[in-house]
Amino acid sequence: MKVIIVGGVAGGASCAARLRRLDERAEILMVERGPYVSYANCGLPYHVGGVIEKESSLLVANEQTFRVQFAIDVRTRCEAIEISPKEKTVKLRDVATGEVKSESYDKLVLSPGAASVRPPLPGIDLPGIFHVRTVPDAREIREWIERGSAFLSGIHKYSGFQTLRPKTRSVVVGGGFIGLEMVENLIHRGFEVTLVEMLDQVLPMIDPEHARVVEAHLKRHGVRLALNDGVAGFKQAANSAIDVETKSGKTYPADVVILALGVRPDTTLAKQAGLKIGERGGIRVDEQMRTSDPDIFAVGDAVEVKDFVTGEWSLVALAGPANRQGRIAADVITGRKSRFRGTQGTSIIGLFGAAIAWTGVSEKTLNRMGDTDYEKIYLYPNSHAGYYPGAKPIALKVIFRKSDGRLLGAQALGEDGVDKRISALAAMLQMGATIYDLEEAELCYAPPFGSAKDPLNFAGMVAADVLRGDMPLSHWNSAKTGFLLDVREPMELAVENVPGALNIPLGQLRARLGELPHDREIHVICRSGQRAYYATRVLLQNGFKAKDVSGGMLSLAHNYLLDTEREGD
Ligand SMILES: Cc1cc2nc3c(=O)[nH]c(=O)nc-3n(C[C@H](O)[C@H](O)[C@H](O)COP(=O)(O)OP(=O)(O)OC[C@H]3O[C@@H](n4cnc5c(N)ncnc54)[C@H](O)[C@@H]3O)c2cc1C
Repeated sequence: MKVIIVGGVAGGASCAARLRRLDERAEILMVERGPYVSYANCGLPYHVGGVIEKESSLLVANEQTFRVQFAIDVRTRCEAIEISPKEKTVKLRDVATGEVKSESYDKLVLSPGAASVRPPLPGIDLPGIFHVRTVPDAREIREWIERGSAFLSGIHKYSGFQTLRPKTRSVVVGGGFIGLEMVENLIHRGFEVTLVEMLDQVLPMIDPEHARVVEAHLKRHGVRLALNDGVAGFKQAANSAIDVETKSGKTYPADVVILALGVRPDTTLAKQAGLKIGERGGIRVDEQMRTSDPDIFAVGDAVEVKDFVTGEWSLVALAGPANRQGRIAADVITGRKSRFRGTQGTSIIGLFGAAIAWTGVSEKTLNRMGDTDYEKIYLYPNSHAGYYPGAKPIALKVIFRKSDGRLLGAQALGEDGVDKRISALAAMLQMGATIYDLEEAELCYAPPFGSAKDPLNFAGMVAADVLRGDMPLSHWNSAKTGFLLDVREPMELAVENVPGALNIPLGQLRARLGELPHDREIHVICRSGQRAYYATRVLLQNGFKAKDVSGGMLSLAHNYLLDTEREGD
């Protein structure tokens, strides 16, 4: 059997290596139009930022590794330009010489990835405007930055005050995860950074109230945010600088511009071969990664996948799914019954010492779909036992089905323990777990790592209390116009209070029930929702209609910002 694989990075290289492990006799040819195979594109922003200093660290394996260890014929700078499904041949062009050869296949695997979106804006091809997709892209950015502007050249060779390197200006266009990673890395290199984003939030995959916390974190680290404003064009300025002009009429001068406007599946070859393209613009495949032609498979960023939670077709450009799909295609080609389960879009991004991670569906998506059978909770547990030094709060939002408690999605932010919580939730979500399973999950614990009641158990308990009717829940958007009972201590109110809320500290509540109305819903608040829960239990058992405001004052901090004018840059 002869298998040709187009694209030699995440999906393609995984497929090739697995294929060899399963079939020692298969003839495997992997072609890659770029100069490298199997490189770590996820590490590119950190190479630009100087965190990963050596370019060679990004090269996970090379042609030689594939040849020697796996007996795979790897050809770099070799582009697949045409597929003939009828004849089962692929035309391959040598990028250096232009020479074209035809190769036959029994099975073909396409893993061509995605192309960075580069809209035809005026001035978009000016020098100094980059995107980050490949090792050569990162190298070009580094060379541009290190060359600097005229006034910088050679300055590091002088002594005294002249060795101070002045800040340089940069603009990152697009606030998705690659954009934010570039923001962090440019700040790391001493740049002033303006982030221009057309939407009214960064990280469009998470809900706006959690994005608000990310935005505040970005501002705290000196990032200038220009949200709700798209780029209109670019103009050449003095000293090889660029003026980035936005639709609202603002101009941001920059010495380097990074475009991080998202990616589009590369379907050039698939379209030419007449393969079915789906409604989201990716190659349509079945659960076994087979395209509309049974001898052609496709994997990675180029394909559409089923969203595990919503069942909708979606485009998810992530390394994990690409690797798994490459492996599945190899399994299926060699006669195994593997299938792809769909994706939950589980992701994480590090940002100035914090992490933001998410899995499954967002509330925004549920609202877009008109799905009202869900509830959400906000909680702020410590990353590990509070008495052990270094515990940090995690802002956690968990979304679950109202009707049966099934986990639907989660978003978390914090400086410690975010990754393992979202990873555990992602695994549970993929197994179809409910919040009752979360309540019972047995997770590892010692004081430096967690709590006897882990944040995830805690989330399960809170959610289960809600669904069992032990803790009726409300959220700030409805609570703020209702009767508010604040059960915090007066000292806490001196720092931050909610106008119009009646304050009865929890310890005095039983003695002061007479001050509360029986004919109105009472929305109970405290700092995080925990004391409010105790108070809600007291009130419910005394015949009041009480609800715990989820997340209390901590969720107010970011939920309220949704309704009010956001402070400027
Ligand atoms: C800067 C950056 C940071 C990222 N960070 C993360 C992260 O932290 N976490 C995460 O999960 N994901 C991350 N990703 C996404 C992840 O890298 C991709 O989802 C993954 O690489 C997709 O794998 P793929 O095989 O589909 O495509 P790719 O890995 O992009 O490989 C496709 C290859 O196919 C080649 N090719 C295309 N057409 C042809 C042709 N006709 N002939 C020959 N070769 C061809 C291309 O040159 C390319 O090298 C990041 C991506 C980038 C760019």
